[in-house]
Amino acid sequence: MSKTIVLTGAGGVLCSTMAMALAKKGNRIAVLDLREEAANKVAQEIKDAGAEAIGVAANVLEKDSLEKAKQVVNDAFGKVDILVNGAGGNHPLGTTSNPFFAMEDLQNAAEGFKTFFDLDPKGIEFTFNLNFLGTLIPTQVFATDMVGREGCSILNISSMNAYTPLTKIPAYSGAKAAISNFTQWLAVHFSKVGIRVNALAPGFFLTDQNRALLTNEDGSLTQRGQQIIDQTPMGRYGTADDLVSSTLYLCDDASAFVTGIVIPIDGGFSAYSGV
Ligand code: NAD
Repeated sequence: MSKTIVLTGAGGVLCSTMAMALAKKGNRIAVLDLREEAANKVAQEIKDAGAEAIGVAANVLEKDSLEKAKQVVNDAFGKVDILVNGAGGNHPLGTTSNPFFAMEDLQNAAEGFKTFFDLDPKGIEFTFNLNFLGTLIPTQVFATDMVGREGCSILNISSMNAYTPLTKIPAYSGAKAAISNFTQWLAVHFSKVGIRVNALAPGFFLTDQNRALLTNEDGSLTQRGQQIIDQTPMGRYGTADDLVSSTLYLCDDASAFVTGIVIPIDGGFSAYSGV
């Protein structure tokens, strides 16, 4: 492979590993992230490994910021062949305190305790915007380079909760369901102009985003953390490296006839009824 690849959110845990793997295959990598320092750090690590990369600050929710980033990428590496939409995440204001609603919850006045009725539209909006618009807007900006050219594709990041929502996180679950749906929509929409569109649906990966929900301060698993392991037939959390082979496959011409799919990478979570 020798393609120009833009990854958003690539200052983060999962997409930095994907960026490094793609770089080691001979691609030119643009590491985009809201956190410029994180983007530059990952780009430097890739360069230290002997591959080509640049770090670029960009906000996936601001078209101007993305247009500027695109100019930097085009100046450095030419037209963009592949976009990985990795930026995403949840917000505490879109998360309930308990998985199931109980009558006593109405009396619970503990600070920070949130029932369904306390969910803040701002938290829902943040989560929908970051995940859904944060995929759609970068696609509008970078796919202009891809139209009508060969070997171009887009890789979105969905999640296990797109198939069946996880308790407590209705906004994130809904937003990732939207990503899976949009992946299919866009695959069809771009099918006549040579742009393939696919997605990964990671299961459970212990990262900065979810560490507080899944582990206690001493590193042991929370009840929720243990519940996930119990529901994962392979009995472990994923590591960022588990995403590499599917990423390479979907970005490579080896998957030239594959578009509109979402690959679960979940240790069997989605196949298991729990019984
Ligand atoms: P992470 O928080 O480590 O990385 C996300 C990155 O996105 C961060 O570096 C952050 O700075 C960046 N970002 C946030 N807002 C941005 C914005 N407006 N513009 C540009 N960049 C922005 O998270 P991660 O675990 O590496 O997750 C990567 C993707 O995988 C996300 O879409 C996430 O929802 C998805 N995912 C993660 C898991 C998991 O278990 N960690 C599971 C399924 C899906």
